[in-house]
Amino acid sequence: MRFESEAADLVPEWHASPVRRRALAVLLAKRFKNACATRDLRIDAGGQEILRRSSCEVGEDGSVVFRLGAQLPGHGRRIAGRQAARLLCEALPDAADAALAVGEEEAERWVRHADDVAALREAVAAAGLVAFVADGSMLARRSGVDDRPLESGVPFASPESMAVEFTLPHAGTVRGMGIGPGITLIVGGGFHGKSTLLRALESGVWDHVPGDGRDLVVADPSAVKIRAEDGRAVTGVDVHAFVDHLPSGEDTRRFTTANASGSTSQAASVVEALEAGSRVLLIDEDTAATNLMIRDARMQELVAKDREPLTPLVDLVRSMADDHGVATILVMGGSGDYMDVADRVVLMDAYRPEDVTARARALAAEPTGRKVEAEGFRMPRARVVDPRSVSSEARGRQKIRADGTDGLRFGESEVDVRSVEQITDHSMTSGIGLAIEAAVRRGWIDGEATIAQFLGRMEAELESGGEAELLRIRDVDFALPRRYEVAATLNRIRELRVRRAEE
Ligand code: ADP
Ligand code: MG
Repeated sequence: MRFESEAADLVPEWHASPVRRRALAVLLAKRFKNACATRDLRIDAGGQEILRRSSCEVGEDGSVVFRLGAQLPGHGRRIAGRQAARLLCEALPDAADAALAVGEEEAERWVRHADDVAALREAVAAAGLVAFVADGSMLARRSGVDDRPLESGVPFASPESMAVEFTLPHAGTVRGMGIGPGITLIVGGGFHGKSTLLRALESGVWDHVPGDGRDLVVADPSAVKIRAEDGRAVTGVDVHAFVDHLPSGEDTRRFTTANASGSTSQAASVVEALEAGSRVLLIDEDTAATNLMIRDARMQELVAKDREPLTPLVDLVRSMADDHGVATILVMGGSGDYMDVADRVVLMDAYRPEDVTARARALAAEPTGRKVEAEGFRMPRARVVDPRSVSSEARGRQKIRADGTDGLRFGESEVDVRSVEQITDHSMTSGIGLAIEAAVRRGWIDGEATIAQFLGRMEAELESGGEAELLRIRDVDFALPRRYEVAATLNRIRELRVRRAEE
């Protein structure tokens, strides 16, 4: 349903920039949803994130397109004509009119918020920080299935030593905790808010609706959540830095398995994220493989290094940061070994962060007898995807279908993306499926370009007019993903075939 700018009648300043148009489109989709008097009209209004969605687009000229589903009333296979006419000729335009009759106060709140977050992201990057959490933020959610802010929670307050201030165009000066590059360790007792902070950072790659509580929480746009995921498929990934001399004698420079273990799956996910261009890794002990994270002095004594295929991350993160500019933010309440390598240590105490870096340094000065197990980290070599292995068409299968956030079908084959935690919802899963299909059809995946090259190309193409690009593949609800979600999904396709790029 399309409204030309005269009909939509929006104030020109509201759609004066891409970030404003994106925010306004989300607002209009949400208003449309609220205005729907009937369940037979369904619009994808999304959750707490502000994403580019197919459900509503605001054009540069102020035109508005709504794309939604209508369930035509009927009896058996016959459509009830009069009711259907009412739905399409009354309920539908009524909802659209109500959505477009947005008041000045509400619209201004959304577009100003969009300006502020965009300015904050720029300022945070310019300050050399990888993340920022504003004072007063509410990071906790109502429940595991309700992503709205916890109303009675403890608001965030930065420790003095980590506090930074930025001036935003509308909100003025905001203060909060700035997280710099290198290695950041989040410690604290169980149930003190560590994972909640990390989850807010994971979500900080997206903008949020005003009033979300994470309004001014931002993370580096390349931040990727890494976790263990036993059972996943891995195809030709160089996990050698983490996994060497397997008992099977397999070459871990091109590690392939249909059934990875906790540790090898996590190692593969780290390497794949770096290959896709991520420079900030987010890891939570709750979902990490312990044997890939740490090995303490006693275990080093008991099990000889040549009997242990794994090199723990604790011995690699320093080189990742120093030699390759990869920052790591990790939650680790159960082991002190990361104090040896951390640049800063944040203690969560009853949901309040404290800077305990100095105390951690003093503790780390006492040797534990632990030996460093690696010389350094080498960036993975680039891989090239065989387009035939990921094309649903070439395999004689037509449909890409998203089955909730947890799975994606490529024809008959299922891609399990349940552990790709930054995928926000069903529509993003669809967007990923369409993006991969577009990449094959348009030749961004051409059997020559490396994964990073094709992702760069795809990102540029989707940035300008991605909605139209993906709608050409299939007319379904979708949200535009980042390159990292696309890469993570691609890497989980069980039929994937890759080759090493020539040096
Ligand atoms: P940890 O990872 O340290 O064990 P979690 O982050 O899982 O702790 O938080 C434990 C509980 O506390 C969760 O139910 C979470 O929603 C709640 N919580 C987290 N932060 C806050 C806060 N700022 N105010 C109130 N409750 C919070
Ligand atoms: Mg936790």
